[in-house]
Amino acid sequence: MTTTEARPATMFDSLNPATGEVVASFRIDSAEDVALAVARARKAAVWWQAQGYKGRKRLLRKWRSIIASRLDEFAALMHRENGKPEIDALLELSLAIEHLDWASGSAKKVLGRRRVGSGLLAANQWASIEYMPYGVVGAIGPWNYPVFTPLGTISYALAAGNAVVFKPSEYTPAIGKWLVDTFAEVVKEPVFQLITGYGETGNALCTSGVDKLAFTGSTATGKRVMAACSATLTPVVIECGGKDAFIVASDADVDAAAEAALFGGMGNAGQTCAGVERVYAVASVYDAFVAKLAEGARKLRAGEDEGASYGPITMPSQIDIIKRHIDDAIARGGKAVVGGADSVQPPYVQPVILTDVPEDSSAVAEETFGPTITVKKVRDEREAIELANDSRYGLGATIYSAKKGREIADQLSCGCVAINSVLSFAMVPELPFGGVRDSGFGRIHGADGLREFSWPRSVTSTRFPAPIKLATFDRPANARSLTVKLVKTLWGRGGK
Ligand code: NDP
Repeated sequence: MTTTEARPATMFDSLNPATGEVVASFRIDSAEDVALAVARARKAAVWWQAQGYKGRKRLLRKWRSIIASRLDEFAALMHRENGKPEIDALLELSLAIEHLDWASGSAKKVLGRRRVGSGLLAANQWASIEYMPYGVVGAIGPWNYPVFTPLGTISYALAAGNAVVFKPSEYTPAIGKWLVDTFAEVVKEPVFQLITGYGETGNALCTSGVDKLAFTGSTATGKRVMAACSATLTPVVIECGGKDAFIVASDADVDAAAEAALFGGMGNAGQTCAGVERVYAVASVYDAFVAKLAEGARKLRAGEDEGASYGPITMPSQIDIIKRHIDDAIARGGKAVVGGADSVQPPYVQPVILTDVPEDSSAVAEETFGPTITVKKVRDEREAIELANDSRYGLGATIYSAKKGREIADQLSCGCVAINSVLSFAMVPELPFGGVRDSGFGRIHGADGLREFSWPRSVTSTRFPAPIKLATFDRPANARSLTVKLVKTLWGRGGK
């Protein structure tokens, strides 16, 4: 089948980005369709919550086993619809599975009822906290990691006891459908549903009255999502892109740094929110690093065959952005050490390494989301830190250094840092993932990710009568003097 076969106006095609072939056709769900899905989810959420942590863990782990046992089938679909090599799809799936396993196994410990200290003034109280599911969570997913990224929301939201209505990107709906269909093999209730369509369908999800909305995508759309959600005061978690810096310190293992920068920058065709986009290498190691990086980049190749290092650009319109950034960098005096403007060969972009690019050019300031890396020579680590932090984004960063990694990490203003490895923070299920500034707010993954999809309920219970009754109009006559004495004794000393 080719791209342009007649189909009803209420449907759209998902295409193989490498060949243009139709992978499958999907409904463009209307606002009414979305409202119906949310209404179904609301009922299912009650059932899902009643399963308790134990029941949900059992069902989520059954789902995990189905995904794991059909790994090859799923990776092949991911290759077809997203374009990434199957080995990358397998890596993405493995990570997503581990997160699902962790979320399902940890929900009770993180969210379940626990006693907390009651303080001195309320010493007669038994104080407890527990985290309650919101009810229905709406998830709007991206196309670049069409399994790992949405499951970073969905696994955690489900484990916390929510029903989920999922709108995958219009570029990867078949992958979203595979996830929902396999879940339905385990859970017959509509606890996890799919809606499909374009931005308007996503917008309908924002205004549908879901109890929380999780968005991953561009900052511009993130702002639109937040504005739409504000009408119903729907809370949001916003995971946008980044312009992640990679610092090569004077004591770095240059070979290892170059290898990591290449994978972080070019892997997945550079379509990684926390991918390496700009490198700051200290002068003493700059030449050796650039030489090694260039040598490695020249060995990489975009393509669809098994030997290709990475696949096509999934979203066709991204190619223009990548080209604009390369053109701007070169027009502003940047040097293309590897590749250049003619590396853009739709639907592929071959590796591009740029040096001497001004910091205010789009290639350094804006998210490129392609297989391009800029490298800048810096005086020392201090300058590298200043430039790394001088960005409207603040998602992740990487540092290569034998001894100074932690010291540099402590000065970086971003959500996640990897020292002497790349992207590893996203692989650790217990670590929250997310950014600051234009990279968004809120967290997926880890205990914070579970709490993101629940609200805290605080309960106090009186264990015995208070020695001094203060919360009553019927206070003892000496309440004032006792209070003054108590507060001064407890907290009036020290503090110097
Ligand atoms: P968008 O932010 O436009 O889209 C992300 C998701 O939001 C998609 O599912 C999209 O649906 C949906 N959407 C679009 N408009 C609305 C709306 N008004 N209300 C609700 N949902 C909406 O990103 P793109 O896919 O267009 O990519 C653009 C840029 O975003 C890239 O160049 C890249 O820089 C960045 N990006 C960052 C990602 C990350 O991981 N942080 C992931 C993907 C992109 P549909 O696809 O159907 O339009």
